[in-house]
Amino acid sequence: MNEIRTTCAYCGVGCGISATVTGEREMAIAGDPAHPANRGKLCSKGTHLGETVGLEGRLLHPEIGGKRTTWERAIRHVARKFADAVARHGPDSVAFYVSGQLLTEDYYVANKLMKGFIGSANIDTNSRLCMSSAVAGHVRAFGEDVVPVGYDDLDQADLIVLVGSNTAWCHPVVYQRIMAAREARGTKLVVIDPRRTETCEGADLHLQLRPGSDVALMNGLLAYCSDKGALDTAFLHAHVAVPGNFWKALQCGSDLWTTSAACDLSPVDVHAFFELFARTRRTVTLFSQGVNQSLRGTDQVNAIVNVHLATGRIGKPGTGPFSITGQPNAMGGREVGGLATTLAAHRDFAPGNIEDVRRFWAAANIATKPGLKAVDLFRAVGEGRIKALWVMATNPAVSLPDASMVRQALAACPFVVVSDCVAETDTSRFAHVKLPAAAWGEKDGTVTNSERTISRQRALFPPPGEARPDWWIVTEVARAMGWRNAFAYDRPADIYREHARLSAYRNGGARLFDLSRHAALTNAEYDALEPSQWGARPFADGRFPTPDGRARLVAVEAAPQGGALRKWPLTLNTGRYRDHWHTMTRTGQSPRLSQHRREPLVEMHALDAEEHGIDEGDLVRVATPQGASVFRAALSPGQRRGEVFVPIHWTDRQSSGGRAGLLPRDLVDPHSGQPGFKTTPARVEKLAFEWRGFLIARSRPEAIPTAYFTAVRVGEGWLVELAGDGDPEDLVRALLPRGDRAENVDRARGNVRAAAIDGGLLIAALYVTRDGKLPDRDWLIARLAAAEEANSVELLAGRSATPVPPKGPIVCACFDVGLNTIVDAIAGQSLVTVEDVGTAIAAGTNCGSCRPAIQRLIGEIKEAAHA
Ligand code: SF4
Repeated sequence: MNEIRTTCAYCGVGCGISATVTGEREMAIAGDPAHPANRGKLCSKGTHLGETVGLEGRLLHPEIGGKRTTWERAIRHVARKFADAVARHGPDSVAFYVSGQLLTEDYYVANKLMKGFIGSANIDTNSRLCMSSAVAGHVRAFGEDVVPVGYDDLDQADLIVLVGSNTAWCHPVVYQRIMAAREARGTKLVVIDPRRTETCEGADLHLQLRPGSDVALMNGLLAYCSDKGALDTAFLHAHVAVPGNFWKALQCGSDLWTTSAACDLSPVDVHAFFELFARTRRTVTLFSQGVNQSLRGTDQVNAIVNVHLATGRIGKPGTGPFSITGQPNAMGGREVGGLATTLAAHRDFAPGNIEDVRRFWAAANIATKPGLKAVDLFRAVGEGRIKALWVMATNPAVSLPDASMVRQALAACPFVVVSDCVAETDTSRFAHVKLPAAAWGEKDGTVTNSERTISRQRALFPPPGEARPDWWIVTEVARAMGWRNAFAYDRPADIYREHARLSAYRNGGARLFDLSRHAALTNAEYDALEPSQWGARPFADGRFPTPDGRARLVAVEAAPQGGALRKWPLTLNTGRYRDHWHTMTRTGQSPRLSQHRREPLVEMHALDAEEHGIDEGDLVRVATPQGASVFRAALSPGQRRGEVFVPIHWTDRQSSGGRAGLLPRDLVDPHSGQPGFKTTPARVEKLAFEWRGFLIARSRPEAIPTAYFTAVRVGEGWLVELAGDGDPEDLVRALLPRGDRAENVDRARGNVRAAAIDGGLLIAALYVTRDGKLPDRDWLIARLAAAEEANSVELLAGRSATPVPPKGPIVCACFDVGLNTIVDAIAGQSLVTVEDVGTAIAAGTNCGSCRPAIQRLIGEIKEAAHA
């Protein structure tokens, strides 16, 4: 069994993985100790990748109109439809919507086909939703989209400021690296976030600011540094262009008191942060979606970058503004030019760049202006301006804001192609043609992580059925459209070499992105390529890729404070869970990853809940001007009053509710086009159903005819949470499979309990109540996996004759340790550190993703003991 070194499928940390194939679609996974991003560590998602490579739900054959067809016919059909649309309506009548899940080689050929040969720049990517404000901010300040920091800088910093980033959940290995730096050198940590997340557990200071007040805070910090003589005037003078009125305008409203009021923070805390920053030269400010996914995301980025430029905290070890990307290859997409606003290889649409790229590609029809950004692109689809759309490896019917509009647009589009590895997604329902793409584990190519490290992703399994790599699919369509010579690639290495050559073509130092050292790699060298970073230490010499070589301070004004609206008294924020990824097409297959959060929750402050008559566990309708969806209430001390939070992961496939994408408005940042997901006006309302219950079953029922349901993977089957009105006895017929039945119906109390048994083994059980208690789900889930004869009496009672205490919601996914077990261990054994808990019950000793949660529990128990 050979060890294969590859890269994790999920976030922008880009961890190296060492995988060993142990059977058909089975593998053992470990962190790659030689990879510079993670040095052998993996988080819960990476650790359990092996549970997500099964073939269930895979798209295995091309389809036209829902019917299986050959690749040859499918390719010809797609090529003809796109060519027809271009011939009749012009190149801007077609579009590609692609993904940060694509490999760089896939991205490169898609970008080349659209911008160099079809002749439009209508190719945009779901990375638009994730980091395009960082791109726009970098270009405004540096002249090029360059992240000037690497993970090593986190190891060398004395202060790390996390802005709008739940790093402990969304980039767990980076968080562990930060914790290691704290341990090793006492690095200070400040978290700036409207929510108190688990990331705050390890922090020296948490500034729980008013959403959208980041510019005010950073402008206040810059003014403070200016007042205290903490600017690097020599660096500013030599290397930074400052607009004429910049300092005067900054001083207006940026004093400590005004800043604190604007941010709704205590002046003491704000002063503590300002002072810490001003006196700590080695400072990294790491930011993520809380900054980018805002209607003023680009300004927020520039407010952060301004502070680093003006204090000279850039281009030196342990310093710099660090935008960390959400997706595994968002950065590779930026490098090839996969955003509609760039042309290729970090070039924009300046006439000289257009001419260079046209020549390099020998392009038949080079695009000469930017294309439509994601939200505008789907608006154009809805308005009938796009006649043919190709969606690659993404699910915009769920993930884009105002997802109802996106669905209507897809339904109205004359020709929709979806290439994906998953057969049924909320988007593929609208596809006229479905093309089976290879999945992670079958793909071969490169990805670039948040710190500019390019790593190889290597195939572990042959593609199943007729699945093909995305680069192959795009190349075949391009050839069928008549551009055979320009797309004469036989393997990903051919594409990568061309991509490297383009980055170097007529570069002459104008752009930092330059892969000339990879331009002549042999196939064997490409296969063996070690992770390597481009741009060793950007801006170390104080030169920036602008015409005059200087960076720019960008004047950004704090947003005026908006009051709550009577009809929409709350502010809705959206984000990720620790163990799930985007729309769960992969992580949803993993029983372990599905345990951390089994339902989509709306987190709210206890006083807001009380005001709305909502209790923990109630079902709640969250409504915004855009739409509404149903979530389970979770009262959270981490929420500010007036603000609620929901996760982004649930789709129609897994739940009748939990649809976060329906809620945000289709408003975008004016510079980047990135949607603002973080501050949507909202209201909540408790839903009253006549009964609630759950089903456990080896197989998921085809149809679930209840007002509310959520289905998640568990051990050997599914757990389906239910709520509804009407006669719950109907559910027994609707949801339980054939088999021997044990039933207990108490009509007076409205309790229904029924189990289906086949061959003596439990295959499904249903528990419904009108106002009583429901049994412990975990004991029953374990019965599904049990090989022993089902005991009907115990099943109908919903507990063992010799009861074991419930372990509670899973905290440690690796060792299946629940909340109750951890709390009992901490309290019962007087454990005071996360390490103590690990020694006692193993929790937190593998991937470490749950360590912040354990830390929080230790703190809460200690606090309760002192109360
Ligand atoms: S932090 Fe986790 S999800 Fe992100 S790349 Fe590493 S293992 Fe994968």
